[in-house]
Amino acid sequence: MEFEPVIGLEVHVQMSTNTKCFCSCKIEFGAEPNTNVCPVCLGMPGSLPVLNKKALEYAIKASLALNCEVHELSVFARKNYFYPDLPKGYQISQYDKPLATNGYIDIKINDKTERIRIHRLHMEEDAGKTIHKGGYSYVDLNRAGTPLMEIVSEPDIRSAVGARLYLEKLRNIMRYIGVSDADMEKGQLRCDVNISLRPKGEERFGTKVEIKNINSFRFVQRAIEYEIERQARILRKGGEIVQETRLFDEKTGKTFTMRTKEEAHDYRYFPDPDLIPVRITKAYIEEIKKTLPELPDQKSARYVNELKLTEYDAEVLVADKDRALFFEKAVENYPKNPKSIANWIINELLGKLNEEGLDITESPVKPGHISELVQLIDKGEISSKIGKEVFEEVFKTGKSPKTIVEEKGLKQVSDEGEIRKIVEEVLNNHPAEVEKYKAGNQKLIGFFVGQVMKATKGKANPKLVNQILQELLN
Ligand code: ADP
Ligand code: MG
Ligand code: ZN
Repeated sequence: MEFEPVIGLEVHVQMSTNTKCFCSCKIEFGAEPNTNVCPVCLGMPGSLPVLNKKALEYAIKASLALNCEVHELSVFARKNYFYPDLPKGYQISQYDKPLATNGYIDIKINDKTERIRIHRLHMEEDAGKTIHKGGYSYVDLNRAGTPLMEIVSEPDIRSAVGARLYLEKLRNIMRYIGVSDADMEKGQLRCDVNISLRPKGEERFGTKVEIKNINSFRFVQRAIEYEIERQARILRKGGEIVQETRLFDEKTGKTFTMRTKEEAHDYRYFPDPDLIPVRITKAYIEEIKKTLPELPDQKSARYVNELKLTEYDAEVLVADKDRALFFEKAVENYPKNPKSIANWIINELLGKLNEEGLDITESPVKPGHISELVQLIDKGEISSKIGKEVFEEVFKTGKSPKTIVEEKGLKQVSDEGEIRKIVEEVLNNHPAEVEKYKAGNQKLIGFFVGQVMKATKGKANPKLVNQILQELLN
């Protein structure tokens, strides 16, 4: 029997505000333990939380970027459970009245667009960290009270790759709008995967398993691939899936049971009496809407429609905000040939940066260099082949393409008389080939072009070379 995976993701995104969600403690990565704490985030009796307006603004911004409906009224609730890194004995979250619902992210799989609906986006605070070391457990409360968004998708994802693409797109949108760096390695983006299988064609969902706390895009994909196999094996044997929470072991690539349904929490949610309901005016939502930048999908459409890029190229460029801005800067400097600029970035620059382990913001080749290079080629001052050599040199030295062309004498030879002289020489030196060509072996034209290029170190204008060769041979 063939099975279809049904996947829904619950993602936590840490917002990059300067201070915590309900107090004015600083948020700092890697600070000395328990230095950014106060009575509020330590859960001292009598202290009162006050909502960080910036966090609310960021969460609204994210909701809008994810096409959600932002509610004019939302309520903070207490989620009660015990853990040493949760000093209040509850986490401030949102329950039946979340900030926003009903959004979506579009992903592209094999040239097809799939819409993954977002069930809800709500705000909550992070817990502290428990560190186990040398037989002791230590609690660091610096992270306690950091503002988070929880973004819950509908079970619309149908493959491991789809889950990864959804997650990558979500990260990119967060970066575009500047509400989070959404770096999975730093725990700024955390993902729980819900997954079940159903026989192909069946409408009802099967029993799901939740895999918690997966900390890289690659592992999300691998955990799902493993889980699909595991569940299919059980179902094929006529067994039943146990509803449970599992964890992913990075070393073995397998998932294992963390807790079963019987051990599930009852959080006894109730509205937090210390925090008044959040009322947001339509005008405020509109105001925030105006601050949204052009998002990846919009950029991609514009690149295709106005700049005439292929959909593939556009997608590659918008997949990273800094990459898109690099491209746009280059086009701004030389608007005549966006297609060629895109090619240089995608085919040459990205590979090279990858090889050197550099981010595009650290690239020795600047946007202006790409514009200049494309312009030199378009004007016929260098061939595109020499262009590659120049590009390599720009990457190595950071010098401008013009400077390199000048210093190395790479300028294309477009002087007809000069080229004619070289063509004549080549023909004189290869009488046998000339005979064969005249006897009908037209392919030899390539040989002659090659010889001329060799004699000029690739600098002869290829169009002129061809023209003169045709003229002298025919
Ligand atoms: P829970 O109450 O267990 O947290 P929810 O209904 O709140 O479950 O859903 C949590 C996540 O699980 C959502 O992302 C949702 O899309 C996904 N989900 C729900 N049912 C299924 C299912 N049968 N298979 C896969 N994912 C599911
Ligand atoms: Mg859940
Ligand atoms: Zn505090």
